[in-house]
Amino acid sequence: MTFASLGLIEPLLRALETLGYQTPTPVQAQAIPAVLAGRDLMAAAQTGTGKTAGFALPLLQLLTMEGPKVSANSARALILCPTRELAEQVHASVAEYAQHLPLTTYAVYGGVSINPQMMKLRKGVDILVATPGRLIDLFRQNALKLNQLQTLVLDEADRMLDLGFSEELANIYRMLPKKRQTLLFSATFSDDIRLLASQMLNDPLSIEVSPRNVAANTVKQWVVPVDKKRKAELFVHLMRKGRWKQVLVFAKTRNGVDALVDKLQGLGINADGIHGDKPQATRQRALDRFKASDVQILVATDVAARGLDIEDLPLVVNFDLPIVAEDYIHRIGRTGRAGNTGEAISLVCADEVNMLSAIEMLTRQTLTRKMEPDFEPEHRVPDTDASGQVVKKPKKPKKPKTSGGGGKRNLGKWVDSGDVAPAEPSIKPVRKVPVFNTGPRKKK
Ligand code: AMP
Repeated sequence: MTFASLGLIEPLLRALETLGYQTPTPVQAQAIPAVLAGRDLMAAAQTGTGKTAGFALPLLQLLTMEGPKVSANSARALILCPTRELAEQVHASVAEYAQHLPLTTYAVYGGVSINPQMMKLRKGVDILVATPGRLIDLFRQNALKLNQLQTLVLDEADRMLDLGFSEELANIYRMLPKKRQTLLFSATFSDDIRLLASQMLNDPLSIEVSPRNVAANTVKQWVVPVDKKRKAELFVHLMRKGRWKQVLVFAKTRNGVDALVDKLQGLGINADGIHGDKPQATRQRALDRFKASDVQILVATDVAARGLDIEDLPLVVNFDLPIVAEDYIHRIGRTGRAGNTGEAISLVCADEVNMLSAIEMLTRQTLTRKMEPDFEPEHRVPDTDASGQVVKKPKKPKKPKTSGGGGKRNLGKWVDSGDVAPAEPSIKPVRKVPVFNTGPRKKK
């Protein structure tokens, strides 16, 4: 399949050629024709799938082919993003794709002076990329009108809700013209996202590039409760017991990655690590060797693993649970792909109970716990379930230990007993009550 066969116009094809894009990614192959046909879209796709071009290319084409010239203080397409960084990144991509088109693009976000943004909007822009808060400020100060809006894109909608933008989205919803095309992209589909979609979208086409939420069905997942200080020992034990051949391991911090790699290499195990502190070339080499099966165990932080393109893997181990619950879905999505079954094992200590609870709530499942004989934790991991409840049983007073040392035992709270744990985890529980419940419902 080629971009030309998807019906894109020549100036876009020329831009893609300059950028070296040869073949459409799966999300592009599905999204481009649908958006060109005017459909609303609900797409499960995350960064790295090529989703930006998936919505931006057809959007640019429609704006070029249809609709009036943009009026003063107006925008014809609005792309909402959760963060400034993403707004900048999306804007940069859109500007590249639009390089041979007579369209204007601009990005607005908070944290910088609003005046230059108001000046820039005077002439109007065809495509405005914005974070929700600043968009509302501009609207309220009459710097922006949305009555010419043809298309709205909600990019990383799940992150927007996680960051607490549901009220802003409800406000923006009231500012929008009824007749418009709406495209929603989200890595995960919580109930809140579905509610948002049911209100914002009109008969949307659903696209799922790699079924992240569904990954749970093909990935056998379980949790092994263990004391934090015995995680490495348990990992080696499980690895030998299960004769693991190729494993991608996620650790929370750079120090955590290095410590585990050192320990494994010290035992003669063929392991390597990647994290943000390592030079890109070193990371790439480790990854290439892992892909070629020259490295058996690859230990990574989420940040380093985010952009990794690793084909199907039999096993993912969460040496530490991710701080952001959604990352769990991204991690386990590395296995169980394309109809294969995979396994995802999480080594969970008492300090991580809130993270476990957030993951169970997000994935709407209670993860099976399997005690490993001889590794039963001294610090019990409180019970959790998919409702987000952490059942903190009153602890029986413990007999004083003779061995000395030992950590603080403050269950359910983040306990930093040493080198690797960050301060209070920043997991935000998934809201129970959707805030996005205002405004009229669009007709079905
Ligand atoms: P995104 O998921 O939109 O953040 O895109 C991830 C990366 O893939 C970006 O660096 C894009 O420039 C690149 N990309 C997107 N589509 C293609 C394609 N069809 N061929 C090659 N690279 C692409």
